[in-house]
Amino acid sequence: ASNRTIAEKDVDSVLHPYTNLKRHPEVGPLVITRGQGVRVYDEAGRDYIEGLAGLWCTSLGWGEERLVEAAARQMRQLPFYHLFSHKTHDVGVELCARLLAMAPVPMSKVFLAGSGSEANDTAIKLIHYRANALGTPDKKKIIAREKAYHGVTVATASLTGLVNNQRSFDLPIPGVLRAACPHHYRFAKDGESEEDFSTRLAGELEAMILAEGPDTVAAFFAEPVMGAGGVIVPPAGYFPKIQAVLDRYDVLLVVDEVICGFGRTGKMFGTETFGIRPDMMTLAKGLSSGYAPISALMVNERVYGPVAEESGRIGVFGHGYTYGGHPVSAAVALETLNIYAERDILAQVAEVGPVLQDGLRALRGHPLVGEARGVGLIGAVELVADKANRAPFPPELAVGARVVAKAQAKGVILRAMGDAVAFAPPLVISKADIAEMLRRFGLALDEAHGELGR
Ligand code: PLP
Repeated sequence: ASNRTIAEKDVDSVLHPYTNLKRHPEVGPLVITRGQGVRVYDEAGRDYIEGLAGLWCTSLGWGEERLVEAAARQMRQLPFYHLFSHKTHDVGVELCARLLAMAPVPMSKVFLAGSGSEANDTAIKLIHYRANALGTPDKKKIIAREKAYHGVTVATASLTGLVNNQRSFDLPIPGVLRAACPHHYRFAKDGESEEDFSTRLAGELEAMILAEGPDTVAAFFAEPVMGAGGVIVPPAGYFPKIQAVLDRYDVLLVVDEVICGFGRTGKMFGTETFGIRPDMMTLAKGLSSGYAPISALMVNERVYGPVAEESGRIGVFGHGYTYGGHPVSAAVALETLNIYAERDILAQVAEVGPVLQDGLRALRGHPLVGEARGVGLIGAVELVADKANRAPFPPELAVGARVVAKAQAKGVILRAMGDAVAFAPPLVISKADIAEMLRRFGLALDEAHGELGR
């Protein structure tokens, strides 16, 4: 059995996330063996431009030796310690201090965890803990949006607004409210401007809070740019209008920066790109450029104060993960932040981002492309059956998945969310590689167009 291929062993042994498990044996997995820069290589040595930085995370690309060194150094020095019960370690402390110094709005404390889901799950638990501390135990409902993605734990999957994450899992848990998705192209009324659309959504949010009772609504979760929902950039005026409603009813704002954090949208945080004032912020992915699992939750004094007070009363804040603030991950994250600063990652995004955005917008002329959208180094094109009336393709045609499969065959790995194809390459990508990525994608689009006979 030892001469079986990796692909064969995979089919026999791996339960894959986000995969049609029934169909998997026929499709077969793509075995990636190594990476360098913005490219990864399969077993046959074929190269692929990684148009999604893996899972929106490998901001510095592959083969960054300084991150390898940082991990190896820390492995030798202190491969494990934790932050439970008044213990600490230098890299954990340094990382929290560094993140507080980088925070776009005043933040009080940082909680370290292993994944974006864990950071958001912790935020949900803090919302409950705080409500109990304040003696307002009924004020615990959380609002999240259609097409949101906040993770896959029982609680965070409940906030996630995508059908696959809830179907057959008996989710959501109670106490989750659903607000509209701010996608102007899809959901604005005829002739409604972006500002008017934002005003309408803020009004709908206010009506929902009033209908539920402001004394029962604790928090609103939002990604600055919605990622897994299809790269949805908020319409003009959206966040200030939403924030005004939340302020009026004492509702906390949790900003999920898991994708947007660390330069993806052109500023260090999406919070800055869109003028948001979060009470909590979650970070992961680009925090370590994906080289080690780590996430962070930042909380302001409005959250931390009552939580510390409650812990004083009951004795302990009873929450934490074995690998929260893992020293190897923390060391890798610190070195990642050093590299972002030394290489001026924001200047790099400012330099190459327009090549991606202009290239995507140029695809608006293609017969399959209804909308091209994005900011900084994140974007998407939405494929439609009829550009004039924005009619989508029938889902069973799986046009997005089909185009992505063709793109893979042409040497670019992308991801389809329905019929939106997302782009979020490593932030270190060159202008030439952006052009090459878009060229390969264009060939895939043309081929799909030919097959669809449109
Ligand atoms: N939040 C956002 C915006 C994400 O995109 C993701 C993952 O893609 C998560 C949270 C969950 O992170 P993780 O997969 O590390 O649990």
